[in-house]
Amino acid sequence: MGEIKLTDVKKSFGALAVLKDIDLHIKDGEFVVFVGPSGCGKSTLLRTIAGLEKVSGGEIQIDGKRVNEVTAADRGLAMVFQSYALYPHMSVRQNLAFGLENSNMPKAEITERINEAARMLEIEAYMDRRPGQLSGGQRQRVAIGRAIVRRPTAFLLDEPLSNLDAELRVSTRAELAALHGRLGSTMIYVTHDQVEAMTLAHRIVVMRAGQIEQVGTPLELYNEPANRFVAGFIGAPH
Ligand code: ADP
Ligand code: MG
Repeated sequence: MGEIKLTDVKKSFGALAVLKDIDLHIKDGEFVVFVGPSGCGKSTLLRTIAGLEKVSGGEIQIDGKRVNEVTAADRGLAMVFQSYALYPHMSVRQNLAFGLENSNMPKAEITERINEAARMLEIEAYMDRRPGQLSGGQRQRVAIGRAIVRRPTAFLLDEPLSNLDAELRVSTRAELAALHGRLGSTMIYVTHDQVEAMTLAHRIVVMRAGQIEQVGTPLELYNEPANRFVAGFIGAPH
């Protein structure tokens, strides 16, 4: 579970080709980080994996099934966006429960999942507050919690820490790494922060203008960047 395979994936918006022949095989439990300049197609790629955008060509398979042939719930994916997208009129607890309550899940299980996520993310103290009463870092943890309660086989995270200040970014990054260790889910993570990429990733995918420029472990990219562009992104002297 949690294996994602992209074959010749293309995506255009009208005449604008945003993704061009993306080929990538993400293994179950792998932490893959996408980096690349603004506008290179990172968010679009995540959205196509999530099934929020249809591909214009090629295909995406999740655990051997084509993305567009399984329902959203069966895909086992949960997405965390850069803007937290919490419901402002609901408490933290209600935000976490939302989505689970629409399923047929027993109440006891919903409560258990929420409590578990709250413990993991250390947000127990403000479960009855509304998002407006929380700091940016707290809100982002709630957004991550909302993904955790769904127990996805893969998390799709689009610049989840970019709205946090430097100190919180570092601590939340460490929490995310610990979380990955505990859950063992596949993580697909977009960032423009090299340090995040280098510390979190099993493999880094460097994108440029809708294409994959290079894929490798942080060490491989650091030691053997394919070109100046990759070196520039990874921060290696070249
Ligand atoms: P990134 O996340 O790497 O910054 P995006 O995937 O958001 O890049 O965007 C890639 C390109 O696709 C940009 O040129 C953007 O303007 C364009 N784009 C993204 N979504 C749409 C859309 N729904 N309609 C038209 N163009 C889009
Ligand atoms: Mg983006």
